[in-house]
Amino acid sequence: MAMLREQEEAELPPPLAPCLVKFTHCDRDIYSSAVPQQCPICGQNPVSSWDLEQAPVSIPYPFFNAHREKCSFVLRPTKGGFLGEYDGCSDLHVGITSSKGIVHHYNESGSHKDATGWEQSVSIPLVPPDQYALIHQWDSYLEVFSCNEKWLPHRYDENDHNCYTYALMFINSLLHLQEKRTFTKEEFTEKFVLPKTRRASKYITLCHEVAQNDYYIVHHSTL
Ligand SMILES: [Zn+2]
Repeated sequence: MAMLREQEEAELPPPLAPCLVKFTHCDRDIYSSAVPQQCPICGQNPVSSWDLEQAPVSIPYPFFNAHREKCSFVLRPTKGGFLGEYDGCSDLHVGITSSKGIVHHYNESGSHKDATGWEQSVSIPLVPPDQYALIHQWDSYLEVFSCNEKWLPHRYDENDHNCYTYALMFINSLLHLQEKRTFTKEEFTEKFVLPKTRRASKYITLCHEVAQNDYYIVHHSTL
């Protein structure tokens, strides 16, 4: 554990995406890092080439390098990475990316711009790629918005005026400019954030199980 902490503090690049596959045998869904020669339950070859239903599928990696995501809402653990020490209930931190992948965010020391550190994030794109006018003005809106005195350090409040307030207020101010309906925190979370974070946390669970036991075996469709 100590080694993990040291690595994270040194801000080394995140490890390569772990490979995760699912295959079906013995009426179970079996997750592992690669399809084995033998099924861990019955000991037979788990892949019969004529059975499409049992064909292994790879589980898509749910994280993105936020610095390659333009005009997006991005989310990561406040400390460390999702696939490091994150235990499913540690604090999360959110931000908004510029059209060049700079993450703008707000915390107790004010508003910030990060060019690194968000390599393993959940990402929610906010602008369809054909909205050129909006993308063109995005960075200057974001700069002006971030300079507002609302985002001075002393205004920070862990519960009522935090990173999420900042990100959502930016999104709502753009929606308002476009005369579109704005979102409450609950609406935005329910509609956009939770579907992605649920998928990410399933992936984290699978990675932990596979790392510890080589296999994670479940009845059909419980995951
Ligand atoms: Zn089997």
